[in-house]
Amino acid sequence: MGERAMDLRYSQTDEKFRNELRAWLADAVPAHGTVPAEGDWDARRGYDTGWQRKLYDAGYAGINWPAEYGGRGAPLSEQLVYYEEIARARAPYVGVNFVGLLHGGPTLIVEGNDEQKAAHLDAILKGEEVWCQGFSEPSAGSDLASLRTRAVREGDDYVIDGHKIWTSFAQVADYCELLVRTDPDAPKHKGITWLILDMRAAGIEIRPLRTIIGGTEFGEVFFDRVRVPVSQRVGPENEGWRIANVTLRFERGTSFASQMVELKRFLAELVDAASRVTRHHASAWDDAALRREIGHMQAESDALWAMVKLSVSQANESGVPGIGGSAVKLVYSELYQRVGELAMRLIGRAALSWDDVGGWPNKRFLYSGMQSLSLSIAAGTSQIQRNIIAERILGLPKDR
Ligand SMILES: Cc1cc2nc3c(=O)[nH]c(=O)nc-3n(C[C@H](O)[C@H](O)[C@H](O)COP(=O)(O)OP(=O)(O)OC[C@H]3O[C@@H](n4cnc5c(N)ncnc54)[C@H](O)[C@@H]3O)c2cc1C
Repeated sequence: MGERAMDLRYSQTDEKFRNELRAWLADAVPAHGTVPAEGDWDARRGYDTGWQRKLYDAGYAGINWPAEYGGRGAPLSEQLVYYEEIARARAPYVGVNFVGLLHGGPTLIVEGNDEQKAAHLDAILKGEEVWCQGFSEPSAGSDLASLRTRAVREGDDYVIDGHKIWTSFAQVADYCELLVRTDPDAPKHKGITWLILDMRAAGIEIRPLRTIIGGTEFGEVFFDRVRVPVSQRVGPENEGWRIANVTLRFERGTSFASQMVELKRFLAELVDAASRVTRHHASAWDDAALRREIGHMQAESDALWAMVKLSVSQANESGVPGIGGSAVKLVYSELYQRVGELAMRLIGRAALSWDDVGGWPNKRFLYSGMQSLSLSIAAGTSQIQRNIIAERILGLPKDR
């Protein structure tokens, strides 16, 4: 993960930025209204992209994107201040803009050509274009390179046939970062191509999947002779595996930064709840074992924040986050699950209800606890992150 020393204390300039951002958020967040009802995807798209537009107009969009592509190009410490303040103000989460802003756009910045950059980057920053990720397939998740969705060249188009799964926000997306097999005879890592797919193209069918908490945020996407112009290929044909790894590094390395600040907020809520829950005539907070458990989690989250700083700083220097992002992703998702489990344990039987009972934040705790189960699967499972850390960071023998 690199051993150079970093000075991550906040300077006067950072604090000035913090004050400006905090003042802007104090007005902008309440003015943006409340989150739309679950399942109302059109409203959700409007809410998330509307917020993105406000960030853009105020000069805060693409905090880590280079200024030459319309981002703020903020120095490392300013990016961290940004994440802290966004979380503190409970500003809308990046939501449906996740793929475009946090890994699709960044991949185009590194690997796209000038036309592709001009066509998409500004639109992503303004919230005018929503992207989704078409990587996983029913038999290609952890073993992503086994993907079978086929692209056959016909004139100036690729013709796509196949099936993707777990595609988050496909129902509101305009474009998709799509991995296809262009050479079925080559070794599996060598026959893949990375395409920009227009989600309005003929022959695409989206079928929603329901999650454990009743949500429909992801679904299956079927392709029946979908035509994609060759000009929409990012990088050379059959080099998609290398480019997909750039995408995954952004996805695992820096895009979790704001969620980690959210984790700290969740922990603070847990402390508050612990001081209000009573057991045997004493508050739960009087239990030394519980305080120790929460203290450990707090210490782990502080250590994790230091890892985020390292990952963000590596991305700043090289343009692409380091492989250590896998460690960040692994620790973050497992810690979040433990916090979620503790939250449910703390409120006890109230965790059996989706409705807030007796003043307890059941819904919030239950939702976060259940949602956290997906964290160790999405963006590569914990087992796969462990394999990456073992093989590519620690240099241990390869997984068969
Ligand atoms: C909330 C959520 C959102 C998602 N959004 C998207 C999206 O937008 N786009 C997209 O393309 N995908 C998305 N995914 C899919 C995600 O990337 C895959 O679910 C993930 O990569 C695991 O693949 P799989 O589900 O096929 O499980 P499998 O690969 O079948 O794995 C099953 C189990 O076997 C283990 N395993 C597999 N191989 C190994 C190995 N070599 N060593 C040790 N253990 C192993 C896994 O860790 C896991 O526990 C999303 C998933 C979730 C949960």
